[in-house]
Amino acid sequence: MKTLKIALDGPSGSGKSTVAKILSAKLDILYLDTGAMYRATALKALNLGVDTFDEKGVSEFINNLDLEIKYINGKQLTYLDGENVSDRIREPQISMAASNVSSLKCVRIKMVEMQRKIAETTSCVLDGRDIGSFVLPNADYKFFITAKVEVRAKRRFDELTAKGFKVDFNVLKKEIEERDYNDSHREFSPLVKASDAIEIDTSDMTVDQVVSTIMTHIKAY
Ligand code: C5P
Repeated sequence: MKTLKIALDGPSGSGKSTVAKILSAKLDILYLDTGAMYRATALKALNLGVDTFDEKGVSEFINNLDLEIKYINGKQLTYLDGENVSDRIREPQISMAASNVSSLKCVRIKMVEMQRKIAETTSCVLDGRDIGSFVLPNADYKFFITAKVEVRAKRRFDELTAKGFKVDFNVLKKEIEERDYNDSHREFSPLVKASDAIEIDTSDMTVDQVVSTIMTHIKAY
C-alpha cells in the first residue's frame, strides 16, 4: 500500500512541531516528533550521571535504552524505563543536553533505526533536523522550516513562560544559537536542508499561513 511520508526539518524554534501536529491531524497520518527521542536519551544520561558528550559512557547504555513512543488519543507520549517522561523532557535544561547527545554517532544510529522502523509501514510526518537528508531520503515531501533567531527565541520564551518556567530571553537566544551551531556542525548527519526540500521562512508568517503553504504543495501531489 502506498504511504505518504513528509519530512519537516529546520532549526530549534522554527515552528516545526506546531505545524507538524496540525498537518498530521488534517491528513490523518501519524506524527513523530523525533526531537523527543533525543531528549529522552539526554534524560537517561543525566539520570545515570553520564556526561552528555561522553560517547563511551553513552554507548554503554544506548543499545539497551528502554525508550518507547506511544500514541494515546492521537498524542505522542514518550516513555523511558517504563515511565511517561513527556513533560519532563520539555524542561529547559534538557534542550542543551539533547543537542549534546545528538552529536554522538552511536545515538544517531540508534535513533534513526527506531525512526525508520516507526515510519516504515505507515503514512507519517516526521519533524527533526535530518529527516529529509538522512532518515527518509525518499520522503514524498520535504520542507525546511526556518525563522530568524530572534523570532525563534521569542517563540520558545512564550512557550516556556506559558508552562510556568522562569527563563531569560537573552540566555534562551544564546542557547538556541549554540544549538543551531552544534546541530549544523556535527560530523554525522548534521542539520542541513536537503537539496530537494522546499524552504519556508516563517518569521513573518502565522501558523495557519505556514500550514496552508505546505498544504498547497501537498495538494499538488
Ligand atoms: O526538536 P527539539 O528541540 O525537541 O530537539 C532537541 C534536540 O535534538 C535538538 O537540539 C537537536 O540537537 C536534536 N535533534 C536531532 N535530530 C533530530 C531531532 C532532534 O539532532 N532529528
